[in-house]
Amino acid sequence: MKRTLIKNLGENIRKEVLVKGWVDIRRDHGKLIFIDLRDFSGLVQAVSTPKEDSHKVAETIRPEWVVEVKGMVNERPENMVNADIQNGNIELKITEIKVLNEAQTPPIDIQSDGKDIGEENRLKYRYLDLRRKRMQKNLRNRSKALTFIRNYLEKEDFTEVETPILSKSTPEGARDFIVPSRIDKGKFYALPQSPQQYKQLLMVAGMERYFQIARCFRDEDSRGDRQPEFTQLDIEASFVSQDDIMDLLEGVYTEVVKKFYPDKKITKSSWPRLNYQDVIKEYGTDSPDLRKDKNNPNELAFAWIINFPLFTEQSEKDFFHGSGSAKFAPSHHMFTGPNPEDVSLLDSEPQKVRGLQHDLVLNGNEIGGGSVRIHDPKIQEKVFDLIGFSAEQKKKFKHILEAFTYGVPPHGGIAMGFDRFMMILENEESIREVFSFPKTGEGRDPMMEAPSEVEEDQLKELGIEVKKKK
Ligand code: ASP
Repeated sequence: MKRTLIKNLGENIRKEVLVKGWVDIRRDHGKLIFIDLRDFSGLVQAVSTPKEDSHKVAETIRPEWVVEVKGMVNERPENMVNADIQNGNIELKITEIKVLNEAQTPPIDIQSDGKDIGEENRLKYRYLDLRRKRMQKNLRNRSKALTFIRNYLEKEDFTEVETPILSKSTPEGARDFIVPSRIDKGKFYALPQSPQQYKQLLMVAGMERYFQIARCFRDEDSRGDRQPEFTQLDIEASFVSQDDIMDLLEGVYTEVVKKFYPDKKITKSSWPRLNYQDVIKEYGTDSPDLRKDKNNPNELAFAWIINFPLFTEQSEKDFFHGSGSAKFAPSHHMFTGPNPEDVSLLDSEPQKVRGLQHDLVLNGNEIGGGSVRIHDPKIQEKVFDLIGFSAEQKKKFKHILEAFTYGVPPHGGIAMGFDRFMMILENEESIREVFSFPKTGEGRDPMMEAPSEVEEDQLKELGIEVKKKK
């Protein structure tokens, strides 16, 4: 007999069906035993009576056992109908139960929303934590939104291109995760902080419209709600203005909200485009919360921030570039183009140059950022000089400078922090709630126990020696 999904039981009234899933809750009422059965598609109440041979099995089963149940789909008597729940009008009368797997009592409660359970335990038993309704919903909605975005961009003639994970450092302001090479001992790959250089090189390659649901890796000190790896909706296009990029994103994100979160109201469309200096003056931050009613979780206040200065003052933390003597660091990154009106100021007053950067803020969170890029190798070199690159450091980017000598179209793009967007849409407090298997705030995975030591032999093969802690 073929399996029927629990969500489809209502279409099978007065028929015999086979369902497979987990025991959600079991209630022993003496003669009758009620079992709520759960599969990925929903819940149904099943009932076992002593008349059936299977009643003996029903007496033994416990929550979270995996079972196969045969039974009749019956309509509930009128006074037992519960219109508020899925399958509230039916009941599955059990005729056969097969236990596929017994289960120990879960170490964490999975019936609740899980917010009271310590993070260490939730992550150690993440495979159980994900069984809870809230987490199932978050992961499924995330998939739906991603699929929708993919289709939307495909329709706009964008092509999804996968770029390497084993790569070379793209300085985006954070530390790289590095991976030792076995074949070339003493050399290392870096995990991409973002596909920035690849996507620009794809523009040189003539792809014109690129996107990727890209995993990015940044080795940052645990700072609030960050994860060492996270997902960006990464976009780059040729022959575009900042307006084109902002319009595209407004279009696709508005559709996501309308389609999947119809209860949410966008404060203002089209989204305001605000000057960096004005925003700083008025709100004291470049990611202001522009909701009219800050207590309303269903209000979405999107806004673009533009006209950032191209450079900020270089600080201690800008360890990734500069000889130490340079005064400037890129406010966004070193590929962001200067406003064409300000190019002449690059030599005289670089601090006054506005960059073609656009950041997207939502309810006080920065959820995306990008820019129109430099596509003139001379200007790119100038920016490298201004941020204090040594000849050695410049050499690390010679591929991009060289690529730009073979016919590079003007181009620009953006990367959207997808986890944070989903977090806000799902009214969650942390991006971990929209991840499948996140790390703790200290970057640990308590389930896999990562990071971990590796075998002595593995280190030897890599030519690596680890200094023992004293
Ligand atoms: N690569 C940039 C980032 O991750 C975004 C961009 O400029 O497209 O912030």
